[in-house]
Amino acid sequence: MATNSNDGEAFRYDAEVRPGEKRHIMYEVGESYLGDPIEIPVTIINGVHAGPKVFVSAAMHGDEVNGVKVVQEVADRYDPQELSGTIVCLHVLNVPGYRAHMRYLPIYDRDLNRAFPGREDGNEGQQIAKVIYDRFISNCDMGVDFHTSTRNKVTIFHTRADMSDPAVAEVANAFLSAVVLDGAGSKGMMRRIASENGIPTITVEMGEAQRYQPVMVDVALDHLHNLFAYFGMIDAEFESEPVWQRIVGSKEKRWIRSNAGGWVDMNWGPYPIVEEGKSVCTVSDHFKREEHVVEAPFTGLIIGMAANPITVPGQIIAHVVSIDEAERPIIEKIVDEGGYERIGTYHWMGRRPHPTEPEGGVAEAPPAPEEGEV
Ligand SMILES: [Zn+2]
Repeated sequence: MATNSNDGEAFRYDAEVRPGEKRHIMYEVGESYLGDPIEIPVTIINGVHAGPKVFVSAAMHGDEVNGVKVVQEVADRYDPQELSGTIVCLHVLNVPGYRAHMRYLPIYDRDLNRAFPGREDGNEGQQIAKVIYDRFISNCDMGVDFHTSTRNKVTIFHTRADMSDPAVAEVANAFLSAVVLDGAGSKGMMRRIASENGIPTITVEMGEAQRYQPVMVDVALDHLHNLFAYFGMIDAEFESEPVWQRIVGSKEKRWIRSNAGGWVDMNWGPYPIVEEGKSVCTVSDHFKREEHVVEAPFTGLIIGMAANPITVPGQIIAHVVSIDEAERPIIEKIVDEGGYERIGTYHWMGRRPHPTEPEGGVAEAPPAPEEGEV
């Protein structure tokens, strides 16, 4: 390659990473109760060639760790000598929460993802957010922030993005997002603030808190690779749009809640689809004297559900998005051909095995022992 194509520029935060350099740093964003620094691990991969600057971030919620593995792999995998543009890897945004295996910033349960763009004279979360936003996010052109479901729930691999913003939609599509929950996001949420400020950002939700789910991590890495290829950052083939996509508006999704306390037996299957007016699950007491049927309000795809089989009235059983008759065979085909993991999950509480799976689990990528079905 001709040397004159090495037109990359230095990446600046409050120091400088030169084109062709990969730098791992611990960056101070605040102070602990002992007065020592809170530092977040950051890797900056600055390509020798000019191109977009993309951040990938994880553990905004400290117990959501699937994305931490994604970011670690990205930081390891990409070579600045073969990169056009810059990848900014923010491995763990909420270090105090990560250390404590907690979603929020200890000890006042502040949500870091409601603290953006931050304030210099604000609360402890806003001050951390300000440093992260000013030094790294605001110096990027787009971003992908990785999350999981909250504890005791599980979610399929999906994206949250403001699809009314064409720049955000382009990032979501380049990431090959199949299921997209469309919306701007809450006040103070990083993706909302960044997107409003011209840094189109999407959130990716995948799996469970406090788990390492390699199937989902691999899917995320594949989709990020496509995003880098789409924006010309790496020399690789890219797909211009997802094979199947469902953009979900606020009225097309619903949390289905339990109507009784007891043990949950799921009644859906073999596809992760529930039918209007039919049983999603039964809830029974220990003597099986009473069985309460929880019905689906509409026909839909299950995109999330409780990971704990005991429940009380009002507790969430499943998160469902409506699907139309034309989409149903597409979803069934995806599941038939690749199993549940092809639509983004392999761990469904109490589900009936799909006919293509061996009894007791999924053929590829067996779950870790603590996630086993025994
Ligand atoms: Zn989260």
